[in-house]
Amino acid sequence: MQREHLIKPLLGHKYPTIAYGQGVFLYDEDGKAYLDASSGAITAGIGHGVQDIIDAMQEQAGKVSFVYRSQFTSKPAEALAAKLSDLAPGQDYWSFFVGSGSEATETAMKIAIQHWQEQGRHGKNKVISRRMSYHGITMGALSMSGHTLRRRRFVPLLEDFPVVAPPYCYRCPLHSSYPSCGMACADDLETAIRRIGAEHIAAFIAEPIVGAAGGALTPPPGYYARIKAICERHELLFIADEVMTGIGRTGAMFAMEHDGVEPDLIALGKGMSAGYTPMAATMVKDRVMAPILQGSRSVMAGHTYSANPQSAAVALAVLRYIEQHGLVQQAADRGRYLLAKLQQLAGGIPIIGDVRGKGLLLGIEFVRDRATKEPFPEAAGLTSRVIEKALQKGLLVYPASGAIDGVGDAILVAPPMVITEAELDLLAELLEAAIREVM
Ligand code: PLP
Repeated sequence: MQREHLIKPLLGHKYPTIAYGQGVFLYDEDGKAYLDASSGAITAGIGHGVQDIIDAMQEQAGKVSFVYRSQFTSKPAEALAAKLSDLAPGQDYWSFFVGSGSEATETAMKIAIQHWQEQGRHGKNKVISRRMSYHGITMGALSMSGHTLRRRRFVPLLEDFPVVAPPYCYRCPLHSSYPSCGMACADDLETAIRRIGAEHIAAFIAEPIVGAAGGALTPPPGYYARIKAICERHELLFIADEVMTGIGRTGAMFAMEHDGVEPDLIALGKGMSAGYTPMAATMVKDRVMAPILQGSRSVMAGHTYSANPQSAAVALAVLRYIEQHGLVQQAADRGRYLLAKLQQLAGGIPIIGDVRGKGLLLGIEFVRDRATKEPFPEAAGLTSRVIEKALQKGLLVYPASGAIDGVGDAILVAPPMVITEAELDLLAELLEAAIREVM
């Protein structure tokens, strides 16, 4: 065998080589089909091989693929920023384009800090996040993340940012239960602000629905309205990390719409270009930009590929495709259908402890004992075994690292928004077979 040169996630592991994708299926070079029930990394929201996107990509490549943002602007980048603002709650956002979700959250952190600096409030430079959270792999984003596995090698290099309780109703960190808890987990933010002092805190960041670090942890309705009110009361900016939830995935264009909240900053990635090209954005409310416009007039962030015209043209085409095909409503409808199917599945499979989520961002948590919610030991590698078994059967699901934080194994089920009910039936069938084989 030839030596390898590509560093893959697990060295020495043999990964199938994908030849092409069409709709919700990927096909490897041996012709095996995989139902993409995770949209890759919750990214391929409109499915694979969509001709409209390929056409848009070719058209822009025929004009110009790259211009540098300090020398030129481009029509696709200007149009994309305007389109995102039109779609967003309140419709008064600026956009800063980057290449990945990590860059989007890290840029949000920097803009939040700069917002206060421009007003002479230099002490406001910490960002509060939640214990179970993932905001990205770069050092700033990782400093704001509560994902033990991805942090632990680098802890000495990370900022020691404060964390608060996650809205994890299945295993409430405050040993309470909804609704009698009165959403005490939201109030935990206020307790932390009082302890640390609002004069030291720039922002609070949260994923509307916790993805990779929890398996679709979905707070009760009204949680984010409470969070936003707390942030306003103490002069903190609220950053919604919609990298996974944004652009239709939860059955609303932005997941924050479910709670009627207009975040100060929004991070987008993944679904905004649906995997056709690297593209992500930090969206910033007018009122957050105001001190920067009146002050230095320059956001201190940016990358070589920021506002890349080729990527912007693709993202615009993706947004157009989502609108033309009514995919946001479809994510809501198909999500309800899939949730019911998974709940039905749970009824007959005792190691399914919880099924949760919204739209087509659903999570399944596994337990050794449903009555006591006892998790499987980490050494049992339950999540990996489910994923491996599903892969053998031609089904892709995504790990959510509950076990690492000592709270159980979980997976995400998040197929492209174009999936049909018949394909969802197949998904449930394959998933049931995979889970039964690891029990
Ligand atoms: N934020 C959230 C909520 C995510 O789920 C992810 C990736 O999984 C990121 C940020 C980081 O995005 P990327 O992997 O594109 O850097």
